Amino acid sequence: MVTINDNYLKLKAGYLFPEIGRRVNAFAAANPDAPIIRLGIGDVTEPLPEACRTAMIKAVEDMGDRATFKGYGPEQGYSWLREAIATHDFQSRGCDISADEIFVSDGSKCDCGNILDIFGNNNTIAVTDPVYPVYVDTNVMAGHTGDANERGEYDGLVYLPISAENDFTAEIPSQKVDLIYLCFPNNPTGATATKEHLTDWVNYARAHGSIILFDAAYEAFITDPSLPHSIYEIEGARECAIEFRSFSKNAGFTGTRCALTVVPKSLKGKAADGSDVELWGLWNRRQSTKFNGVSYIVQRGAEAVYSPEGKAQTRALIDFYMENARIIREQLTNAGIQVHGGVNAPYVWVKTPHGLSSWDFFDKLLHTCNVVGTPGSGFGAAGEGYFRISAFNSRENVNKAMRRIVEKFKS
Ligand SMILES: *Cc1c(COP(=O)(O)O)cnc(C)c1O
Repeated sequence: MVTINDNYLKLKAGYLFPEIGRRVNAFAAANPDAPIIRLGIGDVTEPLPEACRTAMIKAVEDMGDRATFKGYGPEQGYSWLREAIATHDFQSRGCDISADEIFVSDGSKCDCGNILDIFGNNNTIAVTDPVYPVYVDTNVMAGHTGDANERGEYDGLVYLPISAENDFTAEIPSQKVDLIYLCFPNNPTGATATKEHLTDWVNYARAHGSIILFDAAYEAFITDPSLPHSIYEIEGARECAIEFRSFSKNAGFTGTRCALTVVPKSLKGKAADGSDVELWGLWNRRQSTKFNGVSYIVQRGAEAVYSPEGKAQTRALIDFYMENARIIREQLTNAGIQVHGGVNAPYVWVKTPHGLSSWDFFDKLLHTCNVVGTPGSGFGAAGEGYFRISAFNSRENVNKAMRRIVEKFKS
């Protein structure tokens, strides 16, 4: 019989969202009339911007005419989209990134996992705790870790705890790590990084020959003009950082699928023979071999995000979610609950009241308010005592949920 990749057996069996589902289903079965509101999952709810839909409809028509029909596109993405991204997302903010350093893909989640293809197996890997679980699980699958302990921490990974005590910014490690995953604005904590903090990371990475894997999926939600949107706003980042971006959250593309990864040509890694090798060439080869590009129709939809109408419509979408976040922050504070995040990110990171554990607060909110959120401990051991509430919902649901919470908790 064939053998399997035993690393998969080390995975903590997709515990968080199935367990939420199990508890919500059990409650709904026992209370069939309970009007449950889900503020748990990080998926968008509002329809695609009109500019994107119009561009995709036109692209479908292009596919119906032999003269404009498209077969396989470039694996790296069409140059018109890569140019638009380079101009609007990077060069407009003073980042020295060119179109050929941008690789269009079908998702940041995939890219975060796939990027490990081009790195060796003996790198020391650092993640924050709590963390977006994809970074950890893809390293487990690739055999970069040992087993998990009872707290869910994998042997061999370096965990950098983030909590209110350090203002949700991980301390720069004292030891040498090779790959560092950073996500700002952060999922799940909603925290952001200042230029100074990112400068410390870039300086650390350059001093140690490390690579920062910077996830900027939520950059469009930044409201504070002093905060960097891209790691390439930091001097020296071209020598030490790969950046992931996505159209999922800013333009509602979670179901449409389009994202991008920036691999500067100046990045290098060590080969076994001791020579320096450019990472760009490896990623280009990886994508050309294992990927056949994003659909022409979807890339036209993504391009429309950068048109004047597209910019205005995505801005309105983000402003809508951020008003939800503002309401959540204000109402929870009203209810005497301590909140973090939600100012430059669509997630509000709640300190559970009365010292409740993350799961006890989950149960309490579900049973007394019929509101579903996400237990912080599901994102890592240091998330215990916290709870994530997502601003991705209708205004009606947010208002209803907040009214219930204020009623139960204010007293
Ligand atoms: C939603 C999200 C992404 C985007 O993933 P896609 O695959 O592009 O939809 C990336 N990183 C984080 C942390 C996210 O929450």
